[in-house]
Parts: sequence; structure tokens; C-alpha cells
Amino acid sequence: MLVAVSGCLLGQRVRFDAGHKRDAFVMDELSEYADYISFCPEDMAFGSPRPSIRLVESNEGERVISNKTGEDLTDTLQESVTEEFEAIFAHKIGGIIFKAKSPSCGLGSAKTYLDNGYASGKSDGVFAKMCKEAYPLLPMEEEGRLCDAWLRENFIMQLFAYDAFEQFKEEASIGKLVDFHRVHKFMLQSKDERIYRELGQLVGNHEQKPFHELLNEYELLYKTAIAKKSSIGKTRNVLEHMAGFLKKFLSKEEKALLHEQIDDCAAKIVPVIVPLSTLKLYAVKYKVEYLLEQKFLEPYPKELALRSSLESLK
Ligand code: SF4
Repeated sequence: MLVAVSGCLLGQRVRFDAGHKRDAFVMDELSEYADYISFCPEDMAFGSPRPSIRLVESNEGERVISNKTGEDLTDTLQESVTEEFEAIFAHKIGGIIFKAKSPSCGLGSAKTYLDNGYASGKSDGVFAKMCKEAYPLLPMEEEGRLCDAWLRENFIMQLFAYDAFEQFKEEASIGKLVDFHRVHKFMLQSKDERIYRELGQLVGNHEQKPFHELLNEYELLYKTAIAKKSSIGKTRNVLEHMAGFLKKFLSKEEKALLHEQIDDCAAKIVPVIVPLSTLKLYAVKYKVEYLLEQKFLEPYPKELALRSSLESLK
């Protein structure tokens, strides 16, 4: 999996002050499972160090202005933004991690100003905006938001689910699509029940349209679903559905223990990994293959341990 990352988060000294903002999660944890391609449109345009810039609202739209000289640098930055955009998308990338608050890279967190110097709000940085408009379903997140355990877990699940689809697409067939949909059942349900059902209908009525059309429709809905955020309510619902597949096998005591753990998880007393581990244990014990093959049990490498924290529940 190839992920594009703001160069400064990778420890490259490309910031306006020739410093970096090395990100520990990106560099020490996610790097075990992803390759990175870096970008820095400002370093490309102005070098490092350089005077800082800001986004200023004007009648001609947002302009990029030098904080030091007041010079309008919009066109110069736009050129390198386009060049970096083309460079990263020349590869098949599976996601982007941006540096927060930057006038180039911020994803909804770049400060904007009025002509008179007053702050006016926040928007996307120039580079982030271009990426978002061109690839709205590509997983994208800011390093700042990734400090939130819930957002981090959601983003990483999206990243791996997106990659799974891209790999599946290489050798897709109707039989494989049926399998793909089956093993993603609970993951999709944990994101968006309505889309999950629509996807089921699409796969169920597959003979009604050519496969390439079906695959395009499936891809659009699937990528829309995995971009949604989970919630405690949706997670609880999925855990209960999974427990339903064990109903006929479990003893009264086993059932009680599992439901107690699901209740505790919904009450944020124990993290999701607790009822999930019990579900897996029972699925192994009673050989319930349908549950064991579910991506929701392990949607990304377990070593990332993102479901071990109560904070990953919201
Ligand atoms: S935030 Fe973006 S433009 Fe700024 S230094 Fe980092 S990579 Fe370069």
C-alpha cells in the first residue's frame, strides 16, 4: 500500500523554518504496513527556509500572500501544487496524510484571513483542496486529527478497506465479488447499514447488468460506506448481529458473558477488542467459518492495536 504524506511529517526539513514535524505514528507504526511517497509544494516553489505564507480571501477568490512582503504568490504556489499533484498521482496511491493547518496541506484546518489581516475562518490548503476535489473517495486525513483515537481507527480501517478493494479489482469476477461482499458484511454494516443493504441488492441482482457496470456501482457505494465514521450504536448493532450467529452453539453462561461484554463496550467500560476477542474465541471453538472470515474481526494489522483503547469508541 502506497500512501502519500506531507514531507515534513516524514521528518524532511522542508518547513518554512527549515524544520520538520516528524510524526511518530506515521513513522514508527504505520510505516510497518505502508510505503510512503512524499510531497511538499512549498519547498518545491520557494525552497527552505522561506518566508511563511497565508491564505487571504479576495474578490478573485483565495490568494496566497507572503507574510513578509505582502507579495501575491498564488501562481507560483499553484504551479508546484500541480506538479506535486501529478507526481503523486502518477503512482497508484491508496491514501494521503496531510500536515494540519498548513496553507498548502491543511485539510479544513488552514486559516484564512481578510485583506485587513483579520482571521476569517478555516478552509482546505491549496494542495489538499486539489486532491480532495479530484479524488473525493480516496482516504485522506490530517496528522492533527489522527491524534484522536476514534478518528485514527476510522481512518486506518478506511485505508485498509480501500486497499483491499483496489487489490480485489485487479482480478474481479462476479464470483469473487460475492465473496468480497460476504467477508465485508459486518465492516460495511458498522459504517452504513443502508449502503450495506444497497450493496447486497446490487450483488444479489447481478445478472441484470454488465459486470463492469455492476463493479463501478459497487465500488462507488463501497468507497462511500468505508469513508463513513463508526459510532458506539453502530458498533453495538454489529456485535449483536455477530453474536446472533453463535446463538445456537453457546451455553447460557457463554451467552451471558458475551452480552455483558457487548453492553460494557457500549457503555465504554471495556474497549471493542474485548467482545471481539470473545466472539472470535467462540467462533473458533464452534467452527463458525462465516464469522471467522469477517474482515471486521481484523480490518487492519492487529499490532496497530487501535481498538484497545476506550477512546476509539464514540
Ligand atoms: S505542511 Fe505541506 S507545504 Fe508545509 S512543510 Fe509540510 S509538506 Fe511542505
